[in-house]
Amino acid sequence: MKSYRKELWFNTTSRREYINITRHVEECLAESGVKEGLVLVNAMHITASVFINDDESGLHSDFEKWLEKLAPEKPHSQYAHNGFEDNADAHLKRQVMGREVVVAITNGKLDFGPWEQIFYGEFDGKRRKRVLVKIIGE
Ligand code: ZN
Repeated sequence: MKSYRKELWFNTTSRREYINITRHVEECLAESGVKEGLVLVNAMHITASVFINDDESGLHSDFEKWLEKLAPEKPHSQYAHNGFEDNADAHLKRQVMGREVVVAITNGKLDFGPWEQIFYGEFDGKRRKRVLVKIIGE
């Protein structure tokens, strides 16, 4: 069985951002040489997500509005977590949007359903953060 590991680094210019990382994961898959197997992609931080959905700007703006209703960033004082930090909302947003995705690899390609794309969801950005890509298979 082959095994492959790589870290992808991101440094967003805003606090919250969604980045389509599908191309990066496809590059990892090509590098791994795996034709049949699984790829795990996970955020390595507890204020960021990896998720699969449509690459459509209206939807991304809906995510932002919806998450701000569920866990508004401000006032920072509304959260018990915000003693020395101001990122309680980011922890909550990440919990809803998820930590990781697993995608099947078939014939050397990501075996997606219609419109599926992989995103890095940043909720407490403006600093260097990592995503882990782990691929296993033959
Ligand atoms: Zn925190």
